[in-house]
Amino acid sequence: MGILFTRSCVLCGIPLDAECGCKAMLCAACAEEVRTRYRLHHPISIPDADGAAAALYYTGTVRKAMQQFKFQHKQHYADWFSAQILPILAEHLDDWHPDLITYMPIGFVHLHKRGYNQAELLAKPIAAAFGLPCRATLRKRAFTPKQSTRKDAAARQQNAARALLPLANTDIQNKSVVLIDDIITTGATASAAVKLLRDIGAARVYVLAAAFTPHK
Ligand SMILES: [Zn+2]
Repeated sequence: MGILFTRSCVLCGIPLDAECGCKAMLCAACAEEVRTRYRLHHPISIPDADGAAAALYYTGTVRKAMQQFKFQHKQHYADWFSAQILPILAEHLDDWHPDLITYMPIGFVHLHKRGYNQAELLAKPIAAAFGLPCRATLRKRAFTPKQSTRKDAAARQQNAARALLPLANTDIQNKSVVLIDDIITTGATASAAVKLLRDIGAARVYVLAAAFTPHK
């Protein structure tokens, strides 16, 4: 059998040994680094969420890969990032009893320019792995100021709450909902999304993210 294409390590980009025939997405050195440096071993706190967790620290090569995933059309990195989130949901499945997987919306302009919502790409394989429905529930209001330009926590919270709206005809009444996001930074946007999902009827809302920005 000839080699049809070469896979590269998601984190450092070196070509992977195709001889092994496996579907590894990381080289051995990066796999080790994920275990020792990048894996997040504690829950994160999102105000108003019933539970929240992130798979990796948003730093080093994880940060670089995430940026490529979001901005440089490396959509297939969703396979690796979602695979990092999967075990967390598996661990909480009996406790959270999710009815629905949803995801953080991105603005129309971004979606149009990029062609995909990275959080949706993460959410779909996670939902599929557990046989759960995956649906959009929120949308982003056009022309809201960037979160990063808001100065303090209160301003970020207010801005985040204004930026999100529920989608019409979203029925999540009494459901346990898991919201998938790519990166949690301050948690203001995730918290606003949680509140909104609760306002439109969700019984419980959990947040799972691929990465979490370490706080200095
Ligand atoms: Zn590597």
